[in-house]
Amino acid sequence: MNKDLFLKAAPILNQIQENGFEAYFIGGSVRDYLMNRPIHDIDITTSASPDEIESIFDHTIPIGKEHGTINVVYQNENYEVTTYRAEGEYKDHRRPDEVYFVRDLYKDVERRDFTMNAIAMDTDFTIRDYFGGYEDIKQKRIVTVGPAEERFTEDALRILRGLRFKSQLGFDIEDATYNAMKNRMADTAYLSIERIIVELTKLLNGKDVAHVYPLLLELNFFDYVPFFKNHKMSHIHICEPISLELMLAVMMFKQPENNSALAKLKISNDMKKKVKMYCSIFEKLETLSDKKALRLLVYDYGLPVLSYILSMHETLNENRIYLGHPLIINQESIKEIDKDLVISKRSDIAINGKIILETLNRKGGPWLKDILRKIECAIINHELQNEQSEIIKWVKANV
Ligand code: ATP
Ligand code: MG
Repeated sequence: MNKDLFLKAAPILNQIQENGFEAYFIGGSVRDYLMNRPIHDIDITTSASPDEIESIFDHTIPIGKEHGTINVVYQNENYEVTTYRAEGEYKDHRRPDEVYFVRDLYKDVERRDFTMNAIAMDTDFTIRDYFGGYEDIKQKRIVTVGPAEERFTEDALRILRGLRFKSQLGFDIEDATYNAMKNRMADTAYLSIERIIVELTKLLNGKDVAHVYPLLLELNFFDYVPFFKNHKMSHIHICEPISLELMLAVMMFKQPENNSALAKLKISNDMKKKVKMYCSIFEKLETLSDKKALRLLVYDYGLPVLSYILSMHETLNENRIYLGHPLIINQESIKEIDKDLVISKRSDIAINGKIILETLNRKGGPWLKDILRKIECAIINHELQNEQSEIIKWVKANV
């Protein structure tokens, strides 16, 4: 049940309250609970100072003490407990110059981004909702706490968070909030690319991304993001939830002239590798002609990756990326092929480079890599049995 996580965390709130302080559940978990969505992490907000929290609990970790956040470890779970906080002035559109601790819940929720995220809840599930957040949740609308223009001017990340929440929740963005997004979008240029990427990744995976993507275009969001700003984003189409890597691959494949800017996104090497892998699969799919080539494709890239690409056919079609003839390549055919693969990786071959060199009495060189690939292909395509004696015979006849 949705209440379980709160009931499990209730003793923390009780303990803080028994020590004479206030404590509430707050933020995304309360919002998701009121929407009947699955809840992940529970955040707690309190009138107690970080030092006071540390003295109340035996096991704490000061993960963000200067900003008021202490992790309380309770029954092997980590709970973020943050002291009521008010914020000083914002000068750079992304972080307050100073934060200070306060004893008043209202002051704390006043600085939060959206009304749906500013609802505090007690252990008996009663809510303290100063800004009408619950009504906005019922009406499915995203509304800033206080004047939208001001709130976005303080911190431009809130603009992206708002769009990200729309994509995840399928809500509407209230008019004044949307207009302020339009007016302040240029401030997102002050944000670090890492924070933009976090929000964009969540946004792209949201169930409502097909409706949010046109808004991103309308708001000129991409004009302020490295790499993206070099692309004609109106020529890129997103019709369904998509991973950031696949979207980048679509962009690079369709508009390769801008690829050198990818490094500016500061994504991990693993992510970059994935993007390049998707691009090379697109390239191979363009000329995929027979079952032999398909078998190699399944062997080289694996079932999960190909299955994901095929599942994205609507978006890929819309971007005019060819996925091969549906009679040759489809979810069933790749599953079938995967099941029948004789080997699943190079080390499954019943021979290795060393044995080949010894058998042929030759020195190593680039030819060896070629021949190993040829052996691999022949085995995959059932032209050669995966047995050492057979492979040696084959090598002698073919080198
Ligand atoms: P999620 O379900 O993605 O975790 P969340 O609303 O919990 O969504 P968090 O980033 O975990 O988002 O932040 C917790 C709470 O802190 C938010 O609900 C909101 O009240 C507040 N908050 C977070 N970022 C900002 C911000 N940039 N400006 C104002 N308040 C913020
Ligand atoms: Mg959260």
